[in-house]
Amino acid sequence: METLDDRLRRVRQGIAQAADRAGRDPGSVTLVAVTKTVPVERIREAASLGHTVFGENRVQEARRKIPLLPGLTWHLVGHLQRNKAKYAVELFDLIHSVDGLPLAQEIDRQAGMRGKRQRVLLEVNLGGEAAKTGLSWEAALPLLHELEGYEHLSVEGFMCIPPYTEDPEGARPFFKALRALGEEAASAVGRPMALSMGMSHDFVVAIEEGASIVRIGTAIFGERGG
Ligand SMILES: *Cc1c(COP(=O)(O)O)cnc(C)c1O
Repeated sequence: METLDDRLRRVRQGIAQAADRAGRDPGSVTLVAVTKTVPVERIREAASLGHTVFGENRVQEARRKIPLLPGLTWHLVGHLQRNKAKYAVELFDLIHSVDGLPLAQEIDRQAGMRGKRQRVLLEVNLGGEAAKTGLSWEAALPLLHELEGYEHLSVEGFMCIPPYTEDPEGARPFFKALRALGEEAASAVGRPMALSMGMSHDFVVAIEEGASIVRIGTAIFGERGG
């Protein structure tokens, strides 16, 4: 039986090898261990192995689990409803899933009330039929420009979930497109843009294409709901 330690090591090694192959510093890729449906005990075990950055995809589940796991860094990787923005601002260091102006405005307002500057990514739907949420490619840069003046919100990059294909190569054109968007945005605003892309089955391709954040659940914690 493979242990959690084995799995974490294997994923870290996969990240390092993909970065090496792409001529990138492995330290330039942040691993977010996605813990949706994973019990608190198991997350504590991963933390005891030295992992510190975790991701949840639903606010309700996060509200239950995160207070039991102090001292860790949490990212919201799933869709966020406007009426849950207040909880997200309280719980998460980085919100990956801003997909429109009304949500961004509500996050800014809630962060302002708490004296916080909330770090966010803009989620982009690059035309993939399977990815139902996210901004269109055309809407991404205008929203970034609009949000530049917001006091309590800091847009740090982009996130995408490409449509699932059996062969991870199927995701490559989407990762390339997100990278191009990131580069265009970085030169427009004059600072680097993070790219959150790549999950268990396609993170190697994502890193080859420039991912700076990979979101990995199954490869670390095993199949969900089994
Ligand atoms: C569940 C989830 C992941 C991790 O998916 P795996 O295939 O288990 O690695 C990544 N990103 C988002 C948005 C998710 O909901």
